[in-house]
Order: sequence, then C-alpha cells, then structure tokens
Amino acid sequence: MRRTIIAGNWKMYTDTGEAKKLAQGIADHVGNRTEPVVILCPPSPMLTTVFNVIQNNPVLLGAQNVHPEPYGAFTGEVSEAMLESVGCSYVIIGHSERRILFGEKDVFLNDKALRVMTGKLTPILCIGETLKEREAEQTFNRIEQQLRDDLKGVTLKNGHDLVIAYEPVWAIGTGRTATPEQAEEVHSFIRERLVKMFGTAIADDITIQYGGSVKPDNAKDLLSQPNIDGALVGGASLKVDSFAAIIDAAG
Ligand code: PEP
Repeated sequence: MRRTIIAGNWKMYTDTGEAKKLAQGIADHVGNRTEPVVILCPPSPMLTTVFNVIQNNPVLLGAQNVHPEPYGAFTGEVSEAMLESVGCSYVIIGHSERRILFGEKDVFLNDKALRVMTGKLTPILCIGETLKEREAEQTFNRIEQQLRDDLKGVTLKNGHDLVIAYEPVWAIGTGRTATPEQAEEVHSFIRERLVKMFGTAIADDITIQYGGSVKPDNAKDLLSQPNIDGALVGGASLKVDSFAAIIDAAG
C-alpha cells in the first residue's frame, strides 16, 4: 500500500530549545495517528534532541544529509550508520540546495543512495527542474535523467524502501507553488518512469511527495491529486500551527 508522508525539512534553523518545542508540538498534534506518516528532519546537532521527544510517538526522524562512505577522513560529514544510531529512519538526498550550493552531482548522489540502501535508512530522493529548464521545456528530460542517474544500480524489495520528492527548484522557498495540475503532470510522469525501472507493483507503492512552498492553504488541493502522495515542507514546517495544518490536510 502506498503511504502518505508529510516531512518537515527544518534546513539550518532552530536551536535546541526551539527544536524541542517544535517537535513536542508536532508530537502532541499527531498523538497516536499513524496516517499520514510524519517525519521531522532537523539539523544534525538537533537529531538526538528531537528523537528524545518523539521516540514513543509515531512521528519519525529524518536527517538532511549523509555521506556515501561508511567512515573516514571527511570532516563535517556524517555516515549512514551514525544516523541510524541516533534514531533516524529517513534521510534526504539530492535536495536542490545541496545540488546547487554544495555542487553535489548525480554520480555522488547515486553513491549516497546505494550506501543508504545497504543500511536501514530510507532515502527521500529530491528531484526537480530549474526555472530555466521548465521554460526550455526540458522538465521531463531533467526528471528522467535524475531518476536514471541517481538510482543507477538501485534494487528495491518493496516500494516503501524509497521516497521520491518532486521539488521544482523555482518553487522552493519562493512562495511560488506549482499548480496541482502542473505538479500532477510531473508526478504521473515520475510514476511511469518508476514502473519502467522497478515494475508496477513496486512503483505503485512508492510515495512521491511534492515540495515547493507547500502551505496550509494549498496543501489540500495538491494532496488531492492521484499521484501526489505527500509533501516535503520547508518554511511551513518551522511553525507547529502551519505544519499541523498540512498534516491535517493529508489525513
Ligand atoms: C524544501 O526545503 O524542501 C522546501 C520545499 O522548502 P519550502 O517549503 O520552503 O519551499
């Protein structure tokens, strides 16, 4: 069964006190609900803080980044095993900020995906076109290329082992959102590609989130589309009220 997943990407925001409060507010709001699946992705130093708040709650923990190597002289990086050991179940890979600001290339992201899949973490792979690519009608080519290159050599036992987040770069942190129809067009294209790569049964169960200025007032329309199975939320995940409203729009 395909799962609806709402994930909050806190980026480089919050301090320990704020992280605790935000996580507690979301945990209280979610209560015992297991649908939709809710994931909090705080900055690395706040992972344990958040885990301590949510550990007896259905809310899950995700990291914002991982290095493909298991250990070594990689100052500032964290490994898959380290993330597992502090309670993470998910990790974001290929966020456009990592691709653009930190120069992460598809081959590196593919190494990350392969590494993550040797352990227990589930990758949330972000893909999406820039405004220039959309205007040049290159959206589908770009999506196809990212799926092919980032998931090269990946095999899945089931559809829950991978989450895709479609995040048009022009909609991230800009207040500009893809219309539900624009997003659905790309999501159904992604589903078709996943069917080709992994077969229908597995592809049907893969959650494809939309990300890009998701807010309480646009979440319901986006999530009502047949292939939009959740949201990866940046700005609106930093306040309990707005993130809670997005969770409710999915449930
Ligand atoms: C994101 O960071 O993945 C994101 C979608 O941000 P925002 O919701 O702020 O556009």
